[in-house]
Amino acid sequence: MIIDTHVHCGIMNGFYMPNEMVEEFIDKYNVNHIILSDCRAVENTEDLKPVPPDEAYTQNEVFKDTIAFARKHPGRISVMPWIKPVIDGVDDEFINIISTNTDIVKGIKYHAYNSNLHSDSEILEPYYKIAREYRLPVVIHTGGDDASDPQYVYNAARQHPDVNFIMAHMGLTTDNLKAISFISRLPNLYGDTAWVSIKSVIKLINLGCAGKIVFGTDSPIDGPDTYVQNAHGEPSMYIDYFEKLPKLVSKEIYDKIMFKNAIRLFNLSI
Ligand SMILES: [Zn+2]
Repeated sequence: MIIDTHVHCGIMNGFYMPNEMVEEFIDKYNVNHIILSDCRAVENTEDLKPVPPDEAYTQNEVFKDTIAFARKHPGRISVMPWIKPVIDGVDDEFINIISTNTDIVKGIKYHAYNSNLHSDSEILEPYYKIAREYRLPVVIHTGGDDASDPQYVYNAARQHPDVNFIMAHMGLTTDNLKAISFISRLPNLYGDTAWVSIKSVIKLINLGCAGKIVFGTDSPIDGPDTYVQNAHGEPSMYIDYFEKLPKLVSKEIYDKIMFKNAIRLFNLSI
């Protein structure tokens, strides 16, 4: 079984991930369940300039669209709202969308690089309050830049012991060691495998953290075949998760990473 906890849709900022491409990839690769967030809710362009108003979408309209798409595939797609804490924030409508869709809203997605805001910022507190109330894990983009440094996710997780946090990418473009160390230190801090080598995953397993890793890929960011090839048509690093990893770890640990941890952490009823 495969549960991909890090899937996107949306056409924005040079990313082309229409809903049809999501449908195509989950069918083609027999993905049992995905947790989806829509990148159209970005607050800035990739070079951190505000998205021009005529191209921008609101947090809540994107959230509602993602839910409508997920509803077309019952049991197959869960939703995380991609939040806009700086521009939009939490309002009654946002809370209402969550409270009336608790069967498929399973987390909150925050992009620290794109919003250019540390994860331990006061501005995020209303979201962490909702995460606690609705038992939603918070998935946060981490990378090598200042805004998305794993340190700030660690701070947020330490300050909110009753909320689960997932470091997406475990410090993308780094050697992952900082993120791995943080994940091993806090019971409510997890990591996903999006662009993470199996070498780093095995390091975490060796620290006794097999229960704290969830499979995620950013699909279909490199197209419907992101699992097997990158945007240049070269073999994808995710092939290792299907071909090498099962030979390097026990079936019990492999199943945890590929789906069992996700079921528990995201409270999925599958
Ligand atoms: Zn992503």
